[in-house]
Amino acid sequence: MKILGNSEIITLNDRKEFIHDGAILIEGNKITDIGSTDTLRIKYPHAEYFNLHHKIVVPGFLNAHMHLYSTFARGMTLKGVPPAKFKEILEKLWWKLDKNLTTEEEIYYSAVVPLIEGIKSGTTGIIDHHASFGLVPGSLDILEKAAIDIGVRSVLCYEVSDRWGKDLSKQSINENSRFIEKTRKNKNSLTGSTFGLHASLTLSNETLEECSSEAKRLGVGFHVHVAEGIEDVENSLKKSKKRVVDRLNNFGIFSNKTLAIHCVHINKDEIDILAETKAMVVHNPESNMNNAVGVAPLLEMNDAGVLIGLGTDGYTPSMLESAKVAYILPKLNYGDPRIGNEIVENMLFKNNGIFFGKFFDNPLGIIKKGAFADIVMLDYYPPTPLNENNFFYHLIFGIRESAIDSVMINGEFVLLNKKFTKIDEEEINYKASKIAGKFWEKI
Ligand SMILES: [Zn+2]
Repeated sequence: MKILGNSEIITLNDRKEFIHDGAILIEGNKITDIGSTDTLRIKYPHAEYFNLHHKIVVPGFLNAHMHLYSTFARGMTLKGVPPAKFKEILEKLWWKLDKNLTTEEEIYYSAVVPLIEGIKSGTTGIIDHHASFGLVPGSLDILEKAAIDIGVRSVLCYEVSDRWGKDLSKQSINENSRFIEKTRKNKNSLTGSTFGLHASLTLSNETLEECSSEAKRLGVGFHVHVAEGIEDVENSLKKSKKRVVDRLNNFGIFSNKTLAIHCVHINKDEIDILAETKAMVVHNPESNMNNAVGVAPLLEMNDAGVLIGLGTDGYTPSMLESAKVAYILPKLNYGDPRIGNEIVENMLFKNNGIFFGKFFDNPLGIIKKGAFADIVMLDYYPPTPLNENNFFYHLIFGIRESAIDSVMINGEFVLLNKKFTKIDEEEINYKASKIAGKFWEKI
């Protein structure tokens, strides 16, 4: 039993409650009481007390779309002519990288580095989309081990694709099914699972059919890239005379358990399908800008009632960074400084929590009784008044990663006073760098 006291609590509950000089009681991996510091200390005299010295306490940030496997691309030189189009970026970089991930060590160290960096930027949970076509069976177990070793909550899946032929496509389907069944059987509170699909452009009708019936049998939704680049639309029209959302919808891919990633090149009819099926869209602004694919129609989706969350797509492990860019991009895109405020606040503070709630038994992204104790403590002393309505603007304009002081996940401190409690970051990064150096020789 622990009390985090003498803190300013941003609950992110429906009333946007802000508790001055508040305290949180944690029992096991959950929050079991909230109140004033004095009240909780009197009520629970035997609890271990942590004096937060007026630090700001917020629910941990949640990353709704990540690729942990992308780490070894950092600083890597690509041979030949630089890719000029999105499809070329996939072929010359990402597909080359995922085909060459062949060892347990490579997959493990690719994963632990961004998990550690995520914690340092206040991220307590990630929904990952994995590919390692050099080693498919058991790859999700390696990611699960990495996430548990570092202490991060994760939802894992393998991106099924036909890009490397029938055998690997089949292996990737089996990896999803096996892992989903395993996480159900050996349930642990840190790991969730779903069914991954790469994207319409690398999936045949036959494979989509098979994945659809497999997901139905398992009672799960999908995690799939949707119309990220214009190439996905062109390919879909060629294959099926249908646009991407329409084509995927024909195979029953969308539901309120499905994460549709990007949705950059979609029209009004496709937005309506997403709204009707209650699919969850994840926006990744930095990745979209970096790949020069375009900007998702956030306003149009929001107006149609589509729930939009926020991810990083492997571009960065930092949700703080993603939120800051998400905040300014729609202003530029729509030529209107009013756009992006409420939409982005809801993505980060509300919808990501709803998405994670589909995969776990207790609420996330909120400080309330019964929620998982996934909490970030900020070394930020506001130089202007902080109230229940303006925390988001303090976050966008004033809070940087240097403010992340301590992070608790599942009731345990993984970072305490800027120090990791379970791991040696320097040693892990040194080892990762050695492994990455050898990996580059294969590319
Ligand atoms: Zn992605």
